[in-house]
Amino acid sequence: MKVVVLGAGISGHTCALLLRKKLSKKHQVVVISPNEKWNWIPSNIWVGVGLMTPEDVTFPLKPVYDKMGIEFIQAKAKSIYPEGKGANNKPFVVAESTNKESLGREITVDYDYLVNATGPKLNFAATPGLGPDNGNSLSVCTAEHAHETAKKLNKLIEEMRSGQQKTFVIGTGHGLCTCEGAAFEYVFNLEFQLHQQGVRDKAKIVFITNEAELGDFGVGGLHLKNNGFITPSRVFAESLFVERGVDWITGTHVHQVEPNVIHYESLDGSKSSISFDFAMLLPPFTGAQLKAYDKNDGDITSTLFNPGGFMKVDADYSGKPYEQWNAEDWPKTYQTSFKNIFSIGIAFAPPHQISKPLKSANGTPIAPAPPRTGMPSAIMGRIVASSITDMINGKSDTPTHAASMAEIGAACVASAGANPISGSAVSMTMFPIVHNYNKYPDYGRSLTYTSGEIGLSGHWIKKLLHYAFIYKAKAKPFWWIIPE
Ligand SMILES: Cc1cc2nc3c(=O)[nH]c(=O)nc-3n(C[C@H](O)[C@H](O)[C@H](O)COP(=O)(O)OP(=O)(O)OC[C@H]3O[C@@H](n4cnc5c(N)ncnc54)[C@H](O)[C@@H]3O)c2cc1C
Repeated sequence: MKVVVLGAGISGHTCALLLRKKLSKKHQVVVISPNEKWNWIPSNIWVGVGLMTPEDVTFPLKPVYDKMGIEFIQAKAKSIYPEGKGANNKPFVVAESTNKESLGREITVDYDYLVNATGPKLNFAATPGLGPDNGNSLSVCTAEHAHETAKKLNKLIEEMRSGQQKTFVIGTGHGLCTCEGAAFEYVFNLEFQLHQQGVRDKAKIVFITNEAELGDFGVGGLHLKNNGFITPSRVFAESLFVERGVDWITGTHVHQVEPNVIHYESLDGSKSSISFDFAMLLPPFTGAQLKAYDKNDGDITSTLFNPGGFMKVDADYSGKPYEQWNAEDWPKTYQTSFKNIFSIGIAFAPPHQISKPLKSANGTPIAPAPPRTGMPSAIMGRIVASSITDMINGKSDTPTHAASMAEIGAACVASAGANPISGSAVSMTMFPIVHNYNKYPDYGRSLTYTSGEIGLSGHWIKKLLHYAFIYKAKAKPFWWIIPE
């Protein structure tokens, strides 16, 4: 049997390594992914403040796959033929080579099982002027973007040393962004770095976010129990911002980014602008925009994907009102309507938002999309590898493993300043990720396993995780012992 994994990110790479470990050598594992390097994305934050280089957070994939016996095709998947084509019943994927030697060449790869782990497409085009390539703002979403951001930061630090005042705006560049945690981490690392460089007094820092309130994180906020007290994550987050002298603007949709001005709309319908010298704004995500065709070349993209390009799996996509949504709507096995196709990580289509979807007084949607952070993405990679292995080995016709986001938890360590003595990080756990009011009627989550605290130990954990996950991704000895 041949298993093809699209995407060598956190979920796809985890899935591919585990498939190779679990399946006997007579079965083939193939990875199709456009970049020659793997990126530990969470540490891009540190690249973006100049504390790490792109080389510190990336490594070439091919040697790892060669060592493991996984075939690596450096290419970008374009379309899927889940029924084969014409008289050929074998399903296949069409991809376009991104390898320098064969750039643009079309490649056809057949499969018995397919895992779509193509993650997000960074949709900077959704907001005019957004993004580092064709726009006026910076990003830390890729190691290269983060490196460019650090260069700009260093330039500004020099200018501040000569007495100039600067305004930094960090946050989300669209009303439908997700991954607010990354912007949260970046703003605190930036603030910390400006302190370290002795220019904090020359900087005004503003956090601009689509979250209706700080601490929402696209998961509708959390209730954190520490030392017997229950604290809403809003209070926790606001106190961190106040302590650091960082202003915030919540509930915004950014309409346009001009060279030094951001135009945005707020939930109350008002329209405002903010000038900046440095803006790091996250883009909204879409899916990888793959197409799907039936055996007669008929377009069946809408059968497999939602309008945003995310792949539909075993979730409830009936579109019922927010008030009626519940934990059961969330996918468990990540199998699609084709029993040999799965989708994991950011590539799968969530059934609905976790934070209440809001609109501004003018009707503009301002609603954080559900995050699918590293830990759940990797867990999905693991359970899908296990299910496919069992199906190939004839143990079952249906997936044998499940990991609904309404049943599993997530841990996240958000750096708030990288220094072995004076640094800190917010260590957060939430259980489950999606509110499950059937099990936890009060807050939708367990108060025992949902927690958050800030401290120096968090920084050390974050640093340790950086090395541990890169070690694991390189498939070094006993890599599989390191949990997701
Ligand atoms: C700046 C930043 C900081 C973050 N910090 C944290 C953190 O501290 N903790 C945390 O838990 N999460 C963090 N996250 C989120 C985390 O990075 C994601 O949850 C995780 O990467 C999702 O995994 P994935 O496999 O779905 O997608 P990705 O890791 O993005 O992988 C997708 C893969 O698919 C490939 N691909 C794309 N298109 C195609 C195609 N057409 N064909 C084939 N392959 C394709 C990509 O090249 C990539 O290899 C952060 C995210 C950002 C942007």
